[in-house]
Amino acid sequence: MRAMLDVIIAGGGPAGAALGTMLAGQGRSVMLFEKTTAAQDKMCGEFFSEEGVRYLAALGVDLRALGAVPIGAVRLAAREVLAECPLPFAGLSLPRRIVDEHLLQRAAESGVAVVRGTSVEQLTGAPGEWSIRLSDGTEETAKDAFLATGKHDLRGRKRTGGSQNDLVAFKMYFRLAAEQEERLRDWVELILFPGGYAGLQLAGSGCANLSLLLTKKSLRDCGAEWSRVLAHAVVSSAHLERRLAGAVQLRSRPITLSSIPYGYRRISSETEPWYLGDQSAVMPSFTGDGMSIALHSAFLAADAYRRGVTAHTYQAILARQLKRPVRFATALSRCMVSMPVLAHALRLYPGAMAWIASWTRVPSHFLKIGDSHRSSPYPSFHRCAGDI
Ligand SMILES: Cc1cc2nc3c(=O)[nH]c(=O)nc-3n(C[C@H](O)[C@H](O)[C@H](O)COP(=O)(O)OP(=O)(O)OC[C@H]3O[C@@H](n4cnc5c(N)ncnc54)[C@H](O)[C@@H]3O)c2cc1C
Repeated sequence: MRAMLDVIIAGGGPAGAALGTMLAGQGRSVMLFEKTTAAQDKMCGEFFSEEGVRYLAALGVDLRALGAVPIGAVRLAAREVLAECPLPFAGLSLPRRIVDEHLLQRAAESGVAVVRGTSVEQLTGAPGEWSIRLSDGTEETAKDAFLATGKHDLRGRKRTGGSQNDLVAFKMYFRLAAEQEERLRDWVELILFPGGYAGLQLAGSGCANLSLLLTKKSLRDCGAEWSRVLAHAVVSSAHLERRLAGAVQLRSRPITLSSIPYGYRRISSETEPWYLGDQSAVMPSFTGDGMSIALHSAFLAADAYRRGVTAHTYQAILARQLKRPVRFATALSRCMVSMPVLAHALRLYPGAMAWIASWTRVPSHFLKIGDSHRSSPYPSFHRCAGDI
């Protein structure tokens, strides 16, 4: 009979793949299940903030070498441009279909048994012995289970709502007219329109990513049709209209996502598995920090696991670390949708956007890379011999 696995991971996005790589590096037997069979486009603005870039580099994934384009400044627009400001860090942009595949490849090279095309349907058990039921009807057991299924909740393990639950997301790639592509180079643009907002940036290889959020009510008013949603945003923003003049849509249909619990942070109990990435906290998209949080949760969990810290303690620490940025970003996101006129104040203080960008990410002293990782957030009695 095969020995029980140390670890099963559900989901091979940034959180699951990064965690698998690190746990395999600790000598654990790890099996990771990813429901997609091959690389595909994902719902994401594809902005990588500095922390995400550094976490990926620590895993051996060099975004620049993969063709990422630099993003050095942010522009806020409604009908017309309201404010512009350099970012307080260097961001990068690259399609998720490239990054996620490299991360899964790294996991496999590190010794993770990566199983593609199989969904985890259910997880039962308790710390010490977990059992998962898979879409092909088989089961696997392991001593520890990590849920990193992103936007998708497993049956019986649904996240409660966040504090902004009424937004629906659309993503479309465009080939912009040459002049507009040139004007967008190096910028991430945040465009406000009645009932929602959108992020626009180049995503490498001659295409721009428009990721758009609007309320369910506005979506109903648009007849739940992508062409009318886009027309609504374009009619409300002369800036967006100019950007998209002569642009070609590169997908036949947008990627869509509903029921996003922005502002959610998981507080778990002693009997729960480990939750990572979007399963642990959901940061409003305009911050471009969701992937950094996913990677941060993986680094924090891997460190906790190595030190023998429980899932419950890890989860409580992560929730505490993310409390301020997630709350602050969600309050801003609500304002952007319900009181967009407040954003006009940024005309007077454009530099405030750099301050907002700093306050809506994982605080640097909590990062598990650089100098800060030397001070552990875990109780000292959990330290292992040889810890730094
Ligand atoms: C509109 C929008 C724009 C965004 N823009 C940005 C941005 O610009 N920058 C940024 O950093 N973040 C952004 N985010 C957030 C970011 O996409 C997420 O925070 C990030 O992808 C979370 O990573 P994850 O690994 O937790 O989950 P995911 O990336 O969602 O990965 C989960 C993986 O699990 C797999 N899976 C799901 N269910 C199962 C199952 N049952 N069994 C097996 N596999 C399963 C999925 O196929 C997927 O590969 C945006 C989000 C939205 C909605």
